[in-house]
Amino acid sequence: MVIDLLKNLISIDSSTIIGGNIAVDFCGKWLAEQGLEVSFFENNGYRMLVSEIGEGDSTLVLNGHVDVVAGSPRQFTPMEEGGRLYGRGSADMKAGVAAMMATFAKLTSRKLGCKLQLQIVSDEEIGGMNCTGFLVENGYRGDFVICAEPTGLGIANQAKGILRVDITAYGKAAHGSRPWEGVNAIEVAYDVYRQVLDLPFAKESSEYYQSPSINLAKIEAGNAYNVVPDECRMGFDIRYLPGQNHEEILRQIGSINGIEVVPGLHAEPIHTARSHPFLLGLADIVSRQTGEEAVFFGQHGSADTVFFAKYGIPAIEFGPDGDNWHGEDEYVDINSVLQFEKILIELACSGKIT
Ligand SMILES: [Zn+2]
Repeated sequence: MVIDLLKNLISIDSSTIIGGNIAVDFCGKWLAEQGLEVSFFENNGYRMLVSEIGEGDSTLVLNGHVDVVAGSPRQFTPMEEGGRLYGRGSADMKAGVAAMMATFAKLTSRKLGCKLQLQIVSDEEIGGMNCTGFLVENGYRGDFVICAEPTGLGIANQAKGILRVDITAYGKAAHGSRPWEGVNAIEVAYDVYRQVLDLPFAKESSEYYQSPSINLAKIEAGNAYNVVPDECRMGFDIRYLPGQNHEEILRQIGSINGIEVVPGLHAEPIHTARSHPFLLGLADIVSRQTGEEAVFFGQHGSADTVFFAKYGIPAIEFGPDGDNWHGEDEYVDINSVLQFEKILIELACSGKIT
């Protein structure tokens, strides 16, 4: 059931708002056909759905996105080969979504020790604020969250935080034929960039990470060949470590002389304790199902987990095994999808979250 469902999902080109909405509606219709109650929401044109089963004081949220990044037309025709299912979104993350849906369908009439809330959203690839951000703001938070991103059945209990910063460096304009009379802001900016890389926060490491990452993503300066530029703007994408504080990072950047610092988007890092009783239970189930000890690790990128982390709700990324997401030849390992579904079912029936 789950692989057929996944193939149907891959066939929907959900790389646009319209396509993403069609995919959400498809999921809702499928769930309703299995006897589940489904609530639809729409925010800024993006559709999403929530479905709930089980009873109890605590809620386990299973969150997944059906939007995908753009792909070539052939990627929207699922292709099975050598135990893999190829297609855009197969790994990221329609496999996770299909497995969660199949889990719900199989558990409809089962007695569970907790509430299970399924959230299917359509804007994760562009930041998630229209869907998961919206659901979380409106109280759909639960007590523990699994975002079924592809993790090879590893448990990603940490993720780096995001901090975007625009920095402007200043020089002194002069005629291009007499550059010694001015100060070139591009050269100043380059020096500022080296100083940012040298700040104390940039050299810290943690259990899973060697260091934060700093990407000089944008640079803008100069408008004529015969002028020494007097202003240079740089855009940084900083991914900082769990345990670091974004205000402290901004303070350190601000200590560099003669620049203007404008903070942009910010998202908290994820740091769900490995010793959380729910995670210990999950690790047990994973090793039983896979025959191997569960692996804990930290993600470099971020996911919809960030919206829950903002409210202190423990969240992890945990899903099937695949590769090449956002690239050509994206695939998911079929066996891992089946294992993932079994793990979810066992987890839901074990009923202990906190
Ligand atoms: Zn994803």
